Amino acid sequence: MEKKTFVSLEKAREIMKTIPTPFHLYDEKGILENARKIKKAFSWNKGFKEYYAVKACPNPAILKLLRNEGFGADCSSYTELLMSDAVGFAGNEIMFSSNVTPAKDFELAAKLGATINFDDITHIDFYENLIGCLPETVSCRYNPGGLFNINNAIMDTPGEAKYGLTRPQMTEAFLKLKSRGVKHFGIHAFLASNTVANEYYPALAKILFETAVQLQRETGVHIAFINLSGGVGIPYRPEQEPSDILLIGEGVRKVFEEILVPAGMGDVKIFTEMGRFVTGPYGCLIATNIHQKHTHKEYVGLDACAANLMRPAMYGAYHHITVLGKENEPCDHKYDVTGGLCENNDKFAIDRMLPKIDIGDILVIHDTGAHGFSMGYNYNGKLRSAEVLLKEDGSFELIRRAETPADYFATFDFTGLFQEGQPKRFVLKDGELSGAAL
Ligand SMILES: *Cc1c(COP(=O)(O)O)cnc(C)c1O
Repeated sequence: MEKKTFVSLEKAREIMKTIPTPFHLYDEKGILENARKIKKAFSWNKGFKEYYAVKACPNPAILKLLRNEGFGADCSSYTELLMSDAVGFAGNEIMFSSNVTPAKDFELAAKLGATINFDDITHIDFYENLIGCLPETVSCRYNPGGLFNINNAIMDTPGEAKYGLTRPQMTEAFLKLKSRGVKHFGIHAFLASNTVANEYYPALAKILFETAVQLQRETGVHIAFINLSGGVGIPYRPEQEPSDILLIGEGVRKVFEEILVPAGMGDVKIFTEMGRFVTGPYGCLIATNIHQKHTHKEYVGLDACAANLMRPAMYGAYHHITVLGKENEPCDHKYDVTGGLCENNDKFAIDRMLPKIDIGDILVIHDTGAHGFSMGYNYNGKLRSAEVLLKEDGSFELIRRAETPADYFATFDFTGLFQEGQPKRFVLKDGELSGAAL
């Protein structure tokens, strides 16, 4: 499928008048349309709820949009819980799917009344000792181990994954929880990441539904929900077909009617925790070409770097690139598109065929709406960029300002760093540095 940008050159220039590049831009219209499609795909299930994986795009403005659509929030850390609470998610609108969970994270999750999804059997005692009691509803994360296959193709290797309880542990955990007064149970699993195969959710659902029926018979507990978690992928590459969420929802419905309904478990609610599929395609990183270098290869250097988008450097991930205003020009130039980190893997693209790029051209790096900004970091003292929301009516809103040096230095106390009597080398004022050394 041809990959198009949701932003025009004119719009990018308009935004850049007040917000310099680099910045991540999100498409409100795209996010809302997609959210509605997801709800439609699972509307056959009365209790369906998508808990958006906050880590994919932890921005209150984005979370608010999704909350207005009836989505919940899937958190895995203290600060994600704080943000979700601040946005207005309350009680069972928050799913807490954490692992290696610190005590204070469980304490906050308990205080907010979040639904706890235990990653390990030992967390039951850990939680009960900490909080004093167990909630009425508890979920456990299942890891079947081995390989996860669909149609004889290996999708992923759960046996190598650190997450979840084994099958015998699931039974043991449910019995233990039941004996300690837990009334309603959930089952969760995440077996493959970023898969555009429409069979993924139905195949996962089959495993979870069969497990749910067995667990119900073995332990006699009430299974209230089954959480298919995240993993639904997006077509980063032009030759990939996008997932069809309506088809996926229909596939899950079929398995539901085959397995759960005959077992008398037709009241089970289906939950999902998608991140990438919800916002991934509806974000992009806008950057400007600031240098070009002609050595052993042709390099196009941007004002953005891997600190703004880590996926290419970290996983060799493909992100499509469009040069704004040159959409219809032939891609007859081969470039490495780089950032300025002192790391040779700081390349958004290697040997990419693109139109001839000129200094000052604006580049759109596609599909950064999930696991984009949020994976950013401060290596080389690079500062995190702004995030901007392109609204349905065509206006735009700064939903996170860019970091300043003051943010970068905020965790130091400089008073102890200088010898008595030595002049202060610089001071931070209004996010800018000034002082003797400057
Ligand atoms: C990361 C994560 C998700 C979201 O994954 P996507 O690939 O973005 O859909 C959902 N649930 C849990 C527990 C996760 O860790």
